[in-house]
This record gives sequence, C-alpha cells and structure tokens, in this order.
Amino acid sequence: GRSDWLARALGRAGVMPRAEAEVAIRAGRVEVDGRVVTEPFAPVGPEQTVRVDGHEHTLTSVTRVLMFHKPAGPVVHGTDPEGVGTVFERLQAVLPESLRGYEWLAVGRLDRDTTGLLLFTNDERFVRHGTAPETHLPKRYVARVEGLPVESALQRLRDGVELEDGLTRPARAESRAPDVVELTLTEGRHHQVKRMLAAVGHPVLRLHREAVGAVVLDVAEGGWRELREPEVSEAL
Ligand code: URA
Repeated sequence: GRSDWLARALGRAGVMPRAEAEVAIRAGRVEVDGRVVTEPFAPVGPEQTVRVDGHEHTLTSVTRVLMFHKPAGPVVHGTDPEGVGTVFERLQAVLPESLRGYEWLAVGRLDRDTTGLLLFTNDERFVRHGTAPETHLPKRYVARVEGLPVESALQRLRDGVELEDGLTRPARAESRAPDVVELTLTEGRHHQVKRMLAAVGHPVLRLHREAVGAVVLDVAEGGWRELREPEVSEAL
C-alpha cells in the first residue's frame, strides 16, 4: 500500500482532523507498531498498526465521496473577504461526528455566488481524476441570464466560443425557459460558464450546477449525502 505521513494518514482515515492529529502526535498520544511517535511527518503505511490513546485504528483509506448542495455565499478556494465562511466550514457543520474527522477535499470549485453540486472526497486520486482537463468530465449548469438568448446564440455555445484563453470545446446548450440556459461543459476553466454566456451577449445573473459526471444533485440546499459504492465507482 501507499505510505503517507502520520498526521495526514490519521486525517484521511477519518480518525481526527489533521491539525488535531499533529497536536495528539506531539503530545505522545500516538503509537505506531507499539512505539510512541512524536513526529507528525513520520512515514506510515496501511500495514502498520496505529493506536491513538490506546485505541487501534486502521489506516486503509476507502474512497468516500459526499455530494453537497452549495448555497450562495461561501467560498470554495482562497480567502473569504466577507466573512461568510468557506464551503468546508459549511460542510463540517452539517456532517455527523463519524464523518467530521476526514480531511474533505473539494473536487473542483464553484464561484462564491454559484449554487449546486459540489463533490467532496477524502481521496486525492479522486480529486485529480475529477479535475484533470483530459478527463473531459461533463458538468451540467443552469444559468439565468440577461436578455432572451435566441437559437443562434445557443448554437455558438455548442460550436465553441472564442475566449481570451482560447476556443471552448463543443458543448451542449439548450433553452429551459426564455431566459434560462442549460449548458453542459466537458472542461472547467475559471469562470467558464459566465465568460461563455457573456461572450454571446447574455451575462449570467444566477448560476447553478446540477450534475458532475454521473452524479446528479438530489439533496436540498445546504444538505449533503454520502454516495453509495456503485455511485462512487461510476461517478467520474
Ligand atoms: N463556471 C462559472 O463561471 N462559475 C462557476 O462557478 C462554475 C462554472
């Protein structure tokens, strides 16, 4: 199995958050194969026996994936200028104790004012696969826009729009209502939906993500659920 450093391995395995693990390790509360280890960066592998305060934990990391319905407001990355908190804080606040210890990683990002499906996982490989440009993972968005897009504007979105960082890949674009566009992209550049719609003359007023790969959002705003095993393997 893969080796990892001790504090991070405890975070990944859901034993306790990484920062807490560092404190516990330095305090001499953690044993690896029967020896107290006080170095948070000590390497550790899944075959080793780890005890915290005398309780044994398995470090085998199972890939766990959560869907979260992001409300408008919290940031996914970077600083939080308005003090409304990060999406990680929002998620931790609604998780049960048994899931709170994991170091949850966001699979990609959404703008602060964008609502909808955000996946979280404890597995870095899942994040890498889910965010790699070559995966071409379809992401379905619904945008309320300024103006009333006509068919030729939708066709431009489908064919590719010239943005300052180049032509966009072919996309699916459908009208849901006179001022609502459903747009499915297989790439994820920064602010891509907003930039594409602005480029065809219809700035976005409100943006929501409904689906990522095979995962379709089915929980209420602010809510979450864990994906079941077949969903995890079919997700990306
Ligand atoms: N495209 C955007 O412009 N914003 C998002 O949050 C997601 C995709």
